Amino acid sequence: MTTLEIRDLRVSVATGETHKEILRGVDLTINSGETHAIMGPNGSGKSTLAYAVAGHPKYEVTGGQVLLDGEDVLAMGVDQRAQAGLFLAMQYPVEVPGVSVSNFLRTAKTAIDGEAPKLRHWVKDVKVAMENLRMDSSFADRNVNEGFSGGEKKRHEILQLELLQPKIAILDETDSGLDVDALRVVSEGVNRVKENTGLGVMLITHYTRILRYISPDYVHVFVGGRVAESGGRDLADRLEEEGYDRFLQAAV
Ligand code: ADP
Ligand code: MG
Ligand code: MG
Repeated sequence: MTTLEIRDLRVSVATGETHKEILRGVDLTINSGETHAIMGPNGSGKSTLAYAVAGHPKYEVTGGQVLLDGEDVLAMGVDQRAQAGLFLAMQYPVEVPGVSVSNFLRTAKTAIDGEAPKLRHWVKDVKVAMENLRMDSSFADRNVNEGFSGGEKKRHEILQLELLQPKIAILDETDSGLDVDALRVVSEGVNRVKENTGLGVMLITHYTRILRYISPDYVHVFVGGRVAESGGRDLADRLEEEGYDRFLQAAV
């Protein structure tokens, strides 16, 4: 059982000379096997939360704590965070020129486990994971994110999730730009990993659509850089009907 604990997290970004506070005291606890949907309007700081937990250098933590089973995540380098079991699917994944999907995955797996996976098992695991995500086997030879469609990027993220087996995953707008079929395949992938490994998920989304496929245990409304309200599934249904207006007015 793993716990990711975010306590009173405050984060600023530098814009030119000035520092702008984006996260203004975020509290959130995610245990193994739980799915927490973070929902909020554009610009509320959802991606900033994901980047800060991932250790992106542009985001300066000015206060609070992030603990993974009591270990200080903020003191860890980016690689150490992955080794500790954190997984972050970026909203805008970067291209890695000249590195094939297959090499990228094997290198990442080796870095996380501290040893290279046994080749015979690994080749089979990759094959099965790709079939599960209805990916053509030729995909493994393509360069990471080079010319990937929106759907291919998302499938590649979930492929990583299946193969790297993290403890806690932060998925930032995994639903954006997906048609219904791709959304279903990607969601099934997340659900499969949850079932097989007890993954804990922070599912960041602007829309409720993905929550029809990945059922959240908790829903948090994120407004103005903090959690404005938490609840169960029904909170997402209410947001679907009412939108974020009520929360935005309360946050001013
Ligand atoms: P969301 O993901 O909820 O749409 P973001 O975390 O992307 O929100 O952005 C929150 C706020 O922080 C926005 O006002 C955005 O302009 C600002 N921001 C985020 N990242 C940066 C950055 N790297 N540089 C400058 N401003 C940023
Ligand atoms: Mg946004
Ligand atoms: Mg965002």
